[in-house]
Amino acid sequence: MIEKKDIDALAVHRERMVREQLIARGIGSARVIDAFRKVPRHLFIEDGLIYQAYSDYPLPIADGQTISQPYIVALMTQSLDVRQDDTVLEIGTGSGYQTAILAELCSKVYSIERRGAIAAKARKLLDGLGYHNVMVMIGDGTQGCAEKAPYDGIIVTAAGPRVPEPLSAQMRDGGRLVMPIGDEHSQTLVRITKQGTALTEESLGACRFVKLIGEYAWSN
Ligand code: SAH
Repeated sequence: MIEKKDIDALAVHRERMVREQLIARGIGSARVIDAFRKVPRHLFIEDGLIYQAYSDYPLPIADGQTISQPYIVALMTQSLDVRQDDTVLEIGTGSGYQTAILAELCSKVYSIERRGAIAAKARKLLDGLGYHNVMVMIGDGTQGCAEKAPYDGIIVTAAGPRVPEPLSAQMRDGGRLVMPIGDEHSQTLVRITKQGTALTEESLGACRFVKLIGEYAWSN
């Protein structure tokens, strides 16, 4: 149980995170910043680590997975250029924090997580917070979800060797995809934009994520 004084302290930490980690480092989208002010990140963190929720680094969740550093979540979200009417596909639900940020910014979020227990926990939390525009699915996200395609935005929060072909196929014309590409040790965050059948790739900088495991990524 978190006490009232602690909730107040966490709100102060959250505001400091927004100013010092996001705005000071160039996150300029007012919509993205508002979403970070709103979503209570500490609820997505494992019990013993709640007071580190707004710190400037990733934290462990279950099964050796991680919740990304706040700045990386913001950079990926801003780079995805999410608009109010968009439908977004997320691969790697994890804690559900990035999912909640996306749900604040667009009309529908489909999120796929391969680990059943992690997906169940995130789904319960997101439901409890009233994010009724989110659907968490269990499965191999490298295959995407053709049934709900095309997507205005696709965000992959685990690192693979290349963009899985089903995901580029499921992007809408004009759509964006943000994903870390590389091996276990060295990765680059990239943004792919689709114009007609052409895909343009830009680098957003170095990063480090857990592995994307599935048919169109690593096998284990
Ligand atoms: N955005 C999440 C990141 C969690 S870590 C957060 O900030 O909390 C990445 C997640 O991707 C892990 O939960 C892992 O189980 C999941 N994952 C890895 N490969 C996957 C795949 N092929 N399909 C769906 N989820 C996958």
